Amino acid sequence: MRYSALGVFWHGLTGNKGWKPVWRNPDPKPHYDVVIIGGGGHGLSTAYYLAERYGIRNVAVLEKGYLGSGSIGRNTTIVRANYMLEGNSQFYSHSLKLWENLEAELNYNVMHSQRGQVMLGHSDGQMDMLARRGNMMRMQGDDAVLWGREDVRKHLPYIDHENARFPVYGGLMHWRGGTARHDAVAWGYARGADMRGVDLIQNCEVTGIRVEGGVVRGVDTTRGHIGAGKVALTAAGRSSQVAAMAGLRLPIESHVLQAFVTEGLKPVIPHVVSFGMGHFYISQSDKGGLVFGGDLDMYNSYAQRGNLPMVEHVAEAGMALMPMIGKAKMLRSWGGVMDMSMDGSPIIDKTDIAGLFLNCGWCYGGFKAVPGSGDAFAHLIASGNHHPAADKFLLSRFRTGHVIDETGNGATPNLH
Ligand SMILES: Cc1cc2nc3c(=O)[nH]c(=O)nc-3n(C[C@H](O)[C@H](O)[C@H](O)COP(=O)(O)OP(=O)(O)OC[C@H]3O[C@@H](n4cnc5c(N)ncnc54)[C@H](O)[C@@H]3O)c2cc1C
Repeated sequence: MRYSALGVFWHGLTGNKGWKPVWRNPDPKPHYDVVIIGGGGHGLSTAYYLAERYGIRNVAVLEKGYLGSGSIGRNTTIVRANYMLEGNSQFYSHSLKLWENLEAELNYNVMHSQRGQVMLGHSDGQMDMLARRGNMMRMQGDDAVLWGREDVRKHLPYIDHENARFPVYGGLMHWRGGTARHDAVAWGYARGADMRGVDLIQNCEVTGIRVEGGVVRGVDTTRGHIGAGKVALTAAGRSSQVAAMAGLRLPIESHVLQAFVTEGLKPVIPHVVSFGMGHFYISQSDKGGLVFGGDLDMYNSYAQRGNLPMVEHVAEAGMALMPMIGKAKMLRSWGGVMDMSMDGSPIIDKTDIAGLFLNCGWCYGGFKAVPGSGDAFAHLIASGNHHPAADKFLLSRFRTGHVIDETGNGATPNLH
């Protein structure tokens, strides 16, 4: 069923009782052409593009919990293309272009809002870095505007510009950056994949990967063995554990990242604001809650919850940037498990095991990557060739030393 304004109006008139579930709940078949492990953003978008662009529809997405129970439903929803290094910049640029047409493509309202994202600068050195980043973004074909003190004062009147420790020198505005509703992205891709025949199988944990003579044959799950021509790993947060089932050791650590939301307030913060020097970023949701977060909890964990010292650290950073936030009541906090690669950049690659494909290492940036990653991973699985926008995300770079060390993204304390 396609959604339309008339349909929404009609359902409203009839008490909204006629809506049907938007995906089926099938039992697993004995064999699929492609089995995708993990029903987060990357697994669902990969399944969608496999079916839509490559006509590969005998596909199952196996999710150990419910669809969207991982970080796709736990992130702070920021979408941007302000990366600097070759490899990352063309990939995120490609992904942002897909975002800009996503609602039309999926016929689903993902509430993509290009409200602008600004990175603040608090020293001459940081302003030089922002200018360099802005130039790289523009050379890539994306937008960036370097703001001076007065520009920041005009657009962000609510922050403490003269803070003794973090005086504001300027900022880098990326107007095409913004936010999107994270759950809706998972649901939109899930619906699109299901409509094209993909089986979305929930409560189905993969417990083993079967490999015979160097060729992948299928997976063992809590719902029995499922044969597969190809197996694709998109189990962010648990990539190392799942890859170990096939005997692979990945250069990835799992860490917790927390986020916070306040009670609903009247519109006060129209943009996404990143305060890198204080480890703090913030935006306002459409319901009015101030959504903010900071740095990793800094210890390895698979627990989807955080600790109190980080709550204190993030709250202090928020107060340093915008003292008015102290008046808002915090409603909730939560944590998600991050797949931290050692250079801060992801992996989309084949493995030495024929038919086994990797998609992992998204660090804190995997939400904005969802469309580009699904598109590129589907291309790799279907054709065996790397998508041009993602051809630098090779596992071998950790062996050869050709890392894509985008400062501030990796599991290393290089956050400024
Ligand atoms: C607090 C927080 C804030 C963030 N903010 C942003 C942001 O603003 N912008 C941004 O771009 N990114 C952000 N991120 C990062 C982003 O959310 C992640 O990088 C991205 O969601 C990871 O990819 P995914 O959606 O596929 O992961 P997930 O949704 O975690 O999907 C992986 C799935 O695999 C499943 N799985 C694991 N093991 C198995 C198994 N053995 N069998 C079957 N299924 C399995 C899990 O249950 C899970 O559902 C944030 C993350 C967090 C936690």
